[in-house]
Amino acid sequence: MFIVGPCSAETETQLLATARAVAALMPDSFEQVIFRAGVWKPRTSPDSFQGAGMVALKWLNRVQTECGLPVAVEVATPEHVSAALAAGVDYLWIGARTGANPIAVQAVAEAVIQSPVQPRGLMIKNPVNADAMLWKGNIERLERTSVPVIAVHRGCNHRPCWQMAYELRSARPDIPLLIDPCHMSGDKNLVEGLCRMAQTLGYDGTMIEVHCAPQTALSDARQQLTPDEWGALVRKYPFRPVCDDHTLAWLRAMMDETDDNLWQVIEERMKISRRIGEWKQLHDVPVLQRERFNEIVERRQEWALSHAISPDTVDAIL
Ligand code: PEP
Ligand code: MN
Repeated sequence: MFIVGPCSAETETQLLATARAVAALMPDSFEQVIFRAGVWKPRTSPDSFQGAGMVALKWLNRVQTECGLPVAVEVATPEHVSAALAAGVDYLWIGARTGANPIAVQAVAEAVIQSPVQPRGLMIKNPVNADAMLWKGNIERLERTSVPVIAVHRGCNHRPCWQMAYELRSARPDIPLLIDPCHMSGDKNLVEGLCRMAQTLGYDGTMIEVHCAPQTALSDARQQLTPDEWGALVRKYPFRPVCDDHTLAWLRAMMDETDDNLWQVIEERMKISRRIGEWKQLHDVPVLQRERFNEIVERRQEWALSHAISPDTVDAIL
């Protein structure tokens, strides 16, 4: 399954130019390509582009009829759900910010249940906080509709958080899992590597932001690909799992990410250590205070005993 389209529907011209380019590039063998566009954008700053709103639903109707592509929009409220479904939108997705609020997800699910028109699928991104169980709970909320549910992994704070995705995959292997490498990295140059990784891990497809002129995009300009770049990527990564057991690849992904985090923490620690050194120098305090040093070592060794780490390892690291 391949979800593709701009971060935001900005103008009718931008939307149709992007959709036409995508439709022309679609490989014949790809049965499921869905065109995405944000209509109501949840932005960090109230001064940023908030999406074109209702009028963009009409532009999406042109994408459906002129390009033959099913369309998906992000919804955050019951009003979004009824407007999108009344306009014939095929798929709805819930974004990471809304996913952090179970009451909002519940309200979206209830609006779908009450709607006279049903979508073909509901996609749910992981919440902005790395909470696999909330992501799973949100899937269960959406499953109370009878619409098929798809999980979208977009990471947190521009990190994948593979462990969160692995927990969800292990708990719900029956739910299709897509990767959203654009929001995961915030950088178009990292998209291909994440697609390669996701294919190795047995994901079921991608959600990728594509814009006819990415450098002029009103939102997420740094992470959107051109249609041509997307066309090359979907041919290279067709997302057909080559083997059934992806456990070792998952464990390695988690290990590498843990190492990245570990080294970053060490870097942070070194910076604090340097500041302490500078303060001591300024105040004529000796570099080492034996009492303080012993306290740090003892406290960590005690901790190590209850965490399956040998006190010798603690000693060596400190
Ligand atoms: C989006 O898909 O454009 C979006 C806002 O994503 P997220 O909810 O992952 O931040
Ligand atoms: Mn976006």
